[in-house]
Amino acid sequence: MKFGKELNATLCSLPSEWHSYTIQYKQLKKLITQLVLEMRDVGLSPEELREGKISKRIVFENQGQNVISTVCIAPNESEGVDSEKLLQMRTDSAFFSALFDTLSGLSNLEKDNRKALTDTLEVLSDRLLKAASPREKDMYIWRNIFGLYHEASVFNITSDKNSRDRLDWFNGQMRERKFRDKLHHNSRDIFDEFILILTQLVSVVQFQRLNQKAMRKILKKHDKRTGLGESTYFSKFIAREELSLSADPCTTASQMIALRVTRVVPQPEDYSCPVCMDIAWKPIRLSCSHLFCLPCLIKAQDQEKWDCPVCRCADSVKKANGGNIDRGVQKLMQLYFPKEIQKKAIERSKELAIRDYEALTGYAVSNDKCVLM
Ligand SMILES: [Zn+2]
Ligand SMILES: [Zn+2]
Repeated sequence: MKFGKELNATLCSLPSEWHSYTIQYKQLKKLITQLVLEMRDVGLSPEELREGKISKRIVFENQGQNVISTVCIAPNESEGVDSEKLLQMRTDSAFFSALFDTLSGLSNLEKDNRKALTDTLEVLSDRLLKAASPREKDMYIWRNIFGLYHEASVFNITSDKNSRDRLDWFNGQMRERKFRDKLHHNSRDIFDEFILILTQLVSVVQFQRLNQKAMRKILKKHDKRTGLGESTYFSKFIAREELSLSADPCTTASQMIALRVTRVVPQPEDYSCPVCMDIAWKPIRLSCSHLFCLPCLIKAQDQEKWDCPVCRCADSVKKANGGNIDRGVQKLMQLYFPKEIQKKAIERSKELAIRDYEALTGYAVSNDKCVLM
């Protein structure tokens, strides 16, 4: 599909109030055609420019409502050294004025959208803090919901179509597992709002990426047809003008959700021991700041493995003992992961019982059977 058609088709699925902010791809394409004719009139050959036969630089200036582009042609050897020939083409300035005008509008729209979404997310975050707190029964359901949200990777991908597909997958999972029904009444409203915000963010991302693609395409076309190579100069110019355009909409969206929503409910992976990959039950903080579970530390010391297995910090395992338990993290884990901690405590007491039995009897317990050691 030609890009102009693709642009219109994608726009149909996006809010109509955004349509007027879109890069006017077709009009800009027409201006390029007119520019090529104007270049011929002033004696500038796209072919010679493309072949590098003419040495030039471009200057962009912002004059009120308009962007003025000046093509500075370096003189021939026969001419004076400092005598650059300056050319201002009406259609070229019209092209970049129109493009810059749209980008300014987009920058303001992005700012407004971001502000509105951030405000909504702040309120949602406060409500979620209460609804998903360790005192509430919904905490584990919220953790499962956010676990699946991470799995869906809604904003961690390169294609914008995928972002929508991933959100559909996530919504499908929510329906299949009936998470909404399992939540208490107050949490259900928050859930509905979370889904709504995700849907809006996916549209925002899709719109931003569509415009980025339109800009890339139209500038490439401009470079190709005129040979002027102005896209590089224009990119530097818009960077100087400090437009608030998100370079990577997916990352921005993903950070917005992580910061105000999903981080409210910690995931066990955030507190896992890098050796056994399970939750760091009785968390030991080594001098290098890495976190391990006590049983793994004891095992490492028994095997005389003295350095931190993560950062190789010398003797950090050797120096650690029960006094290195991170009480703050331990308290947080007891609060947020009561079930996981309980399971781990049972496993650990089983392990210790087996160890004692083996020491006393001389029999090794393997796969629930005893063998002579
Ligand atoms: Zn461990
Ligand atoms: Zn370390």
